[in-house]
Amino acid sequence: MNKATGKLPSTARVVVIGGGSVGASVLYHLAEKGWTDVVLLEKNELTSGSTWHAAGNCPNFVGSWTMMKIQSYSTKLYRELGEKVDYPMNYHVTGAIRLAHSRQRMEEFRHVERMGRQMGVELQEMSPSEMQGVYPFLEAHDLYGGQWDPFDGDIDPAQLTQAFAKGARDMGAKIIRFCPVTGVRRDNDEWVLTTPQGDIRCEYVVNASGYRANEVGAMFGRNVPCVSLAHQYLITEAIPELTARDKKLPLLRDPDSSYYLRQEKDGLLLGPYEKNCRAHWTTADDPMPEDFSFQLYSDDLERLEWYIEDA
Ligand SMILES: Cc1cc2nc3c(=O)[nH]c(=O)nc-3n(C[C@H](O)[C@H](O)[C@H](O)COP(=O)(O)OP(=O)(O)OC[C@H]3O[C@@H](n4cnc5c(N)ncnc54)[C@H](O)[C@@H]3O)c2cc1C
Repeated sequence: MNKATGKLPSTARVVVIGGGSVGASVLYHLAEKGWTDVVLLEKNELTSGSTWHAAGNCPNFVGSWTMMKIQSYSTKLYRELGEKVDYPMNYHVTGAIRLAHSRQRMEEFRHVERMGRQMGVELQEMSPSEMQGVYPFLEAHDLYGGQWDPFDGDIDPAQLTQAFAKGARDMGAKIIRFCPVTGVRRDNDEWVLTTPQGDIRCEYVVNASGYRANEVGAMFGRNVPCVSLAHQYLITEAIPELTARDKKLPLLRDPDSSYYLRQEKDGLLLGPYEKNCRAHWTTADDPMPEDFSFQLYSDDLERLEWYIEDA
């Protein structure tokens, strides 16, 4: 294993476990609120969990008030963060069309549009022909209608994490990579976390260990009910019609067929939310590996055939 980057302090007010996009964001936001005695411990490199392979799409649309608040806060923050922390990022605010194949789906869109109106999130109803205006390759014969999200887009998740990390460090937070948390005990109203570099005492611990959240939760005697699902996306070769365009296509989301489709360089990136998707590491004969940093499951393109046809 690589050597830990930096000396482990003996105390901190907060220790964040996990250096993916969530852990780095928590660290940044704590530091921004003035909690600068904070340390993030990452067992491998920053972004080595799910974050490194995320497609990085950033919608505002969602049917939950809390999630809409988080998502719209995030998309606004991402538009400013690079400049704020002096870490330029690839963030493409392309806008997105969302397709409705039925009246019921359109009703859902209208409901969310009205929620958005209460929260300053601009979502606009679109007719099939209006969508073709912004997305000329769209076949509209089976569409009932759709919706436009002007602030949807995609961000590079590794750059986003590094931007949070830089911002947090600049405000005094510490990040130690290659420093796994291996155990915990309670001592005099404090947590004592064990690592190969020694112990660190703290008031609060944030479990931001992503797909390993249950493993870390178990150290605290907690069951974190989460399971790892394989999610596949594919990227096509360059498509001449896209190369010929001078503007990036908006993201396209089809919740009925269940996929997102976006322009990636001069090709397309297709990501289906598979109806029969596979859970991993759920049985005793398929245990979670000790280390899955920067790794992928084997691809299974047959499972995607229906979605490729549909798209
Ligand atoms: C193919 C794919 C596409 C995706 N597309 C999108 C998308 O378009 N939009 C979107 O919003 N989301 C997307 N996601 C989901 C997104 O990637 C995750 O929700 C997000 O990255 C989770 O971040 P995290 O910080 O919670 O977890 P992770 O990135 O998994 O980070 C957890 C970190 O904790 C560390 N860790 C674990 N245990 C310990 C320990 N004991 N001690 C120290 N460190 C530890 C791990 O090494 C890891 O670095 C996608 C995911 C995948 C796989």
